[in-house]
Amino acid sequence: MEPHDPVRRVAVVSTGSVVVRPEHVGPTRKHVLHWLLTSREWTAPRPVNVYVVEHRDGLVLFDTGQDRASVTEPGYFPAGPVGLVYTRIAKSRIGADETLPARLAQLGYRIGDVGKAVVSHLHHDHIGGLRELGHAEILVSEAEWASLAGPLPEARGLLRSRIDLPGLRWNRVEFAPLADPELAPFTTGLDLFGDGALTLLPTPGHTPGSMSMLVRGPGRRPLLMVGDLTCDAELLAAGKLPGVGDRRRLAETVAAVNALRERQPGLTVLAAHDPNASALLEGALDGR
Ligand SMILES: [Zn+2]
Repeated sequence: MEPHDPVRRVAVVSTGSVVVRPEHVGPTRKHVLHWLLTSREWTAPRPVNVYVVEHRDGLVLFDTGQDRASVTEPGYFPAGPVGLVYTRIAKSRIGADETLPARLAQLGYRIGDVGKAVVSHLHHDHIGGLRELGHAEILVSEAEWASLAGPLPEARGLLRSRIDLPGLRWNRVEFAPLADPELAPFTTGLDLFGDGALTLLPTPGHTPGSMSMLVRGPGRRPLLMVGDLTCDAELLAAGKLPGVGDRRRLAETVAAVNALRERQPGLTVLAAHDPNASALLEGALDGR
């Protein structure tokens, strides 16, 4: 940390693990419904990451992980045909010592220390900690929030009753023009503390309102936390797309992130389910 760096610490924790279909990681030419219903393979276990940024003005989370209730409560997911989609798309594990509060405690924080929680998107493995975060400001993009009101949210991975909880303080982010040429080709976003250290950027594709968080500081490698824009930073760097999401928007966003590298040399892409993410973060923090 340099004297003028408002970011004191960046860490990652995983709230349990998940296995998905290889086509989910991609790339694949098959339609999502085809592989979802026919795939017989699972990947090796992958993380369900929460990024923790200690800024001098408060503790910030990027995503909140999965809820242990998702593996202990039989009615957590919908039943019937919609429920079948959840059982076909992923299998999760999360132990009592892997919940968001437990993971924060292992880093030396209490859940009550969290000032802001940014959710990349509203799928269940990113919103699992919300019920613990009634004291915090929860940031979601306006576009993602609007998608909750569309038809059949549960069939689109949005467990509305687990998201729109009573007492949560939502900040629905409408991206505004940012006059920062270092963010090109991104022209809109939200500078979280007004000091350029943490910037939310629209990165639609996996879902209509998915967003990412860029972490910058003097003498440090820039980090881009991307949620589920990719499951593998190397695939993203090669311009390859995951198997879930709107292909055209994914392609545009992946190209934009790769173009951002020209302004942000050494940009490290940190995904929610990339098995290499914690090593990538460690390398970036060491300047490797
Ligand atoms: Zn996810």
